[in-house]
Amino acid sequence: MIPVTKTFLPPQEEYQAILKRAWDAGWITNRGGLVKELEEKLKSYLRVSNILATTNGTLPLQIAIKALELKGEIITTPFSYVATTSSIVWEGCKPVFVDIHPDYLTIDETKIEAAITEKTSAILATHVFGNPCNVEAIERIAKKYDLKVIYDAAHCFGVTYKGKSIFEYGDISTCSFHATKIFHTGEGGALFTKHKELFHKLFYHHNFGHKGQEDFHGLGINAKMSELQAAMGLSVFPYLDEIMAGRRKAVQIYNKLLEHPDLKKIKIRSGTQWNYSYYPLIFKDEKQLLEIRDELNKAGFYPRRYFYPILNKLNYLENKEMILAESISECTLCLPLFFELEEKIVKRICLIINNML
Ligand SMILES: *Cc1c(COP(=O)(O)O)cnc(C)c1O
Repeated sequence: MIPVTKTFLPPQEEYQAILKRAWDAGWITNRGGLVKELEEKLKSYLRVSNILATTNGTLPLQIAIKALELKGEIITTPFSYVATTSSIVWEGCKPVFVDIHPDYLTIDETKIEAAITEKTSAILATHVFGNPCNVEAIERIAKKYDLKVIYDAAHCFGVTYKGKSIFEYGDISTCSFHATKIFHTGEGGALFTKHKELFHKLFYHHNFGHKGQEDFHGLGINAKMSELQAAMGLSVFPYLDEIMAGRRKAVQIYNKLLEHPDLKKIKIRSGTQWNYSYYPLIFKDEKQLLEIRDELNKAGFYPRRYFYPILNKLNYLENKEMILAESISECTLCLPLFFELEEKIVKRICLIINNML
């Protein structure tokens, strides 16, 4: 059985050797040495101004909305994981969807202005599959209408755009270190902002608002990463280049072998150093997708429909039609892609798809 993704597990002894440091220190959470070391390593690897490690990739979205004091409507994309939308609703704001670009699959920046009302406070967009949004256009719109910008960059570990980490764009960016993501800590995530003041605010928010043991700076929640999570991150970290190279190889074979007028691939925005995080393939229609998926399943390959269902159809929201996002959601299948995926498996997957076209 070949799943859509497979968690990279470092050699267990290496994980245990790092865990032993937590045992020796008798310290397993509340920002011990391992969390701090992981933050330092990631800060220089990613070349970011500030990083705050968190316990998952969803709380950072909620904390970002809280820290920017957003109210009313937040413009967002329907083509993302549910956490992007649910965080907006959880924080008492209303998601206002804007359709996506048919090639880049990110929010269509040319349709954002038409969705702005006097209640709009921010744009929360996803760099979907690690492909950057049009960050320049979004920044111009945000300036013009005095809006905040948050990027759900859960898929973006290692992505740079125009020579700079993608996490440096927007007011705040978030990432996920979930076991299915490129770099992981089992469960985990991070917050990024280049603004020092805002970073302090995020820090307080993620630790109950604590200012020392007996004082509080303001409202907070608990989103701290534990030492056990950081130990996993520190033992995955040395393998990052290998992980990336393995994925790149698989993507190159898919790209080469999957050439057919019925198939569309994601267009990576120019200026991007991509991270090979997903391999979405857009079929002619849903019928073709379902037939090919069945055939792949019969052979033991389990690609997955990302992102389906589409977020504007969530049952706790008013349903507004998003023509392009809906049709892309119906026709997109993410093919198996992970570090140790063998070349011969990639070729067999391509053969099955090509035979069905
Ligand atoms: C994975 C993911 C999240 C949530 O991250 P968790 O670490 O699972 O909480 C949020 N947004 C997107 C786009 C994701 O893919």
